[in-house]
Amino acid sequence: MAGLAAAARARELGAEVRLLEKGSRPGGSMLLSSGVIWRYADFEEFRRQCPAGDEALQRLVWERLDDALDWLERLGAPIVAPDTENPLTTGRRFDPRGLTGVLVESAGEPRYDIESDSDSQWNEAPLIVATGGYPVRLARERGLLVRSNPWSEGDGIALALARGGEEAPSDQFYGRAMPGLVPEEQFVVASQLYGRFARRVNDRGEEFFPGEVSWSENDLAQAIAAQPGGRAWYELDEAALARPEVAEKLPHAQETERLPGGGLRVRVYAAVTHTYGGVRIDTRARAADGVWVAGVDAGGLSNGGYASGLAQALVFGLVAAEDATQ
Ligand SMILES: Cc1cc2nc3c(=O)[nH]c(=O)nc-3n(C[C@H](O)[C@H](O)[C@H](O)COP(=O)(O)OP(=O)(O)OC[C@H]3O[C@@H](n4cnc5c(N)ncnc54)[C@H](O)[C@@H]3O)c2cc1C
Repeated sequence: MAGLAAAARARELGAEVRLLEKGSRPGGSMLLSSGVIWRYADFEEFRRQCPAGDEALQRLVWERLDDALDWLERLGAPIVAPDTENPLTTGRRFDPRGLTGVLVESAGEPRYDIESDSDSQWNEAPLIVATGGYPVRLARERGLLVRSNPWSEGDGIALALARGGEEAPSDQFYGRAMPGLVPEEQFVVASQLYGRFARRVNDRGEEFFPGEVSWSENDLAQAIAAQPGGRAWYELDEAALARPEVAEKLPHAQETERLPGGGLRVRVYAAVTHTYGGVRIDTRARAADGVWVAGVDAGGLSNGGYASGLAQALVFGLVAAEDATQ
């Protein structure tokens, strides 16, 4: 998303833009997402939820998001819901396909021939890097499932570091418990987002997450990633099975076992949606001379918790374009 938002805004500001895309379609993980672009309602809540994140970047996203959402609406991005229905957060839910469509219309169709690209006219031009972090590489390295676009390997981060950027390292990620491999169109619907009602047990039979699970269940997804095989069981008693949040997701379970005395256990795997480590940026999205970094290629926003990757992509994309075109 960040690259499209940056290109659209830069063109709006009168710049000539060349937009390069590694994948076979525009939209990246945004196209696969639920389309909820949000922030915490209170800044203090943001700090409580993501205490190890970069405070200045958090404030930037928090302060700029509402205007950025208005900008998207002005472009014609279709709204599905005017708020998040979560009292902790505020934002808007967009139709991801329509959102991608209007951004491409404003940004211009990307070029997909990045390997053969050797147009030296652009060598000195301001560079905005926005390649969606490294969920695919992290999943491969740690033996986890991928729940993102299939192209984000960290290429942009490597490029920005080679151009003089500084690393903002983090081994954390935003993830979900998934029932197994599913087609990307089912990434949202098949996620097993009811771990808070289950007993969480690893393959050694140990209850590995006895405490309270956060509202996003992102802490639980990362705890599952740390278990043998990056997988676990959710054990559900009769009361848990009767809950609508569980009943809605159970049809997507792939491996289940009846528990003695009633109840059910469901196999879940940790899956990576986006990574938290990346390139350090300032509040103008600058990483080095002539290099800006946007979206989840920029590291350190959500450390210790979970914040909207789409909000990070939208705000940093706009800020990068505005600064790079000055
Ligand atoms: C199923 C699912 C549901 C989600 N739901 C939500 C939600 O409701 N709310 C929310 O805030 N977030 C959500 N997310 C997360 C959100 O989609 C991401 O955080 C967000 O898209 C990150 O934006 P980005 O621009 O950094 O990366 P992306 O949107 O992934 O865009 C990165 C682009 O860079 C391209 N690329 C990679 N390498 C290169 C290269 N070398 N050269 C050129 N191009 C390259 C990729 O192909 C991709 O098109 C969800 C994600 C998924 C998968």
